[in-house]
Amino acid sequence: METTRIFLDQDEIPRRWYNVAADLPEPLDPPLGPDDKPIGPDALAAIFPASLIEQEMSTDRWIDIPEPVLEKMYLWRPSALGRAVHLERALGTPARIYFKYEGVSPTGSHKSNTATAQAYYNAQAGLKRLTTETGAGQWGSALALACHQFGLECTVYMVRCSYQQKPFRKVMMQIWGAECISSPSDRTNSGRKILAEQPDTSGSLGIAISEAVEDAATHDDANYSLGSVLNHVMLHQTVIGLEAKAAFAKIGVQPDVLIGCAGGGSNFAGLVFPFIPDKLAGRDLRIIAVEPWACPSLTQGRYEYDFGDVVGLTPRLKMYTLGHAFIPPAIHAGGLRYHGMAPLVSKLANLGLIEAQAKHQVGCFEAAMQFAKTEGIIAAPESSHAIRAAIDVALECKATGEPKNILFNLSGHGHFDMTAYQAYLAGELKDIENAVIGV
Ligand SMILES: *Cc1c(COP(=O)(O)O)cnc(C)c1O
Repeated sequence: METTRIFLDQDEIPRRWYNVAADLPEPLDPPLGPDDKPIGPDALAAIFPASLIEQEMSTDRWIDIPEPVLEKMYLWRPSALGRAVHLERALGTPARIYFKYEGVSPTGSHKSNTATAQAYYNAQAGLKRLTTETGAGQWGSALALACHQFGLECTVYMVRCSYQQKPFRKVMMQIWGAECISSPSDRTNSGRKILAEQPDTSGSLGIAISEAVEDAATHDDANYSLGSVLNHVMLHQTVIGLEAKAAFAKIGVQPDVLIGCAGGGSNFAGLVFPFIPDKLAGRDLRIIAVEPWACPSLTQGRYEYDFGDVVGLTPRLKMYTLGHAFIPPAIHAGGLRYHGMAPLVSKLANLGLIEAQAKHQVGCFEAAMQFAKTEGIIAAPESSHAIRAAIDVALECKATGEPKNILFNLSGHGHFDMTAYQAYLAGELKDIENAVIGV
């Protein structure tokens, strides 16, 4: 029998995060303020604690994970490194398909890795409440639990189309004591402005971010928390790739292809960043970020400075972007509906160290169905993009006869996405063509 799960012992878990900023061939372009000048730490102090601002700007290669964060995070970690033997057999590929499964966290996705750290640092800094946005609801759930664990209140602005598609995500947040509000809302100036201009909008992450940032900036005892895009979020997610490396080392295997779906870039970064030094040292490693065709920032966006939110409240970040006013179509992979890509991921793409692919949603659901039937796990619609790409590479290997080792990040489960699977099974799911014409 083939080994299908490789486990780490508790004493083999990573105790430090890996910061890829230390190893970039050229430095990251700094965030810019309203005066077009690089912002200093002070500009972020209204919404982030000093400890996270320091991590945001750090070029230290390794950063210790505080003990209380480890204690909470290792309620569900280490996650096993899976091998999809049954999928391999169904495909008839000589490739070996490995996956890191992040759906084992209590909230069902990788988001809890950074939520735990962010709640901890904000509680340490004496804050009472965190505000945030959520697309599909995974991030809102993750922050709700983390805030509860560290004694903070939590206010979540949830993108309207997801709020309607996934009502049980709201209940989940409420179980852990968070307040969940449909965005755009009448709670903030940003929300009221959008409601007046576009009453029927499906909402977007960019709008919800404007609301959450405004809420935090206008309340002294509240800070803002972002579930992706920023450097410190990428940093916190590197436990995924570090664990994967340790598990591969145990079985003496090296991956040849790394794959992650990419919305803001954090689960992709978490998996692949710890392998970037190997790639820079000359190892033959193909690294693929997979985004939805309907929101293709890396494959069709421009590499330029842009705001992180719709209204323009945030500093401007150098990233691949479709423009901060871009409202993506209401595809089911709600967590991938963001107009920009993390500056660190954008930089690596710009340097040619990683490649990007855009996939249509029907093909992604087909891949997720094949995965569910062979491996049993029902993936999040976001993660289905990574499965699609992994299967495509495995089929290329079948054509060439190459027995490559493929590793993809299975960023979350799809247990709250049954309406999406229902639509797929009923043949009602459609691909969105030409979503970005005119951008
Ligand atoms: C939020 C989310 C994503 C997309 O966000 P990234 O920051 O790009 O990782 C992907 N998969 C799942 C399951 C998510 O919850």
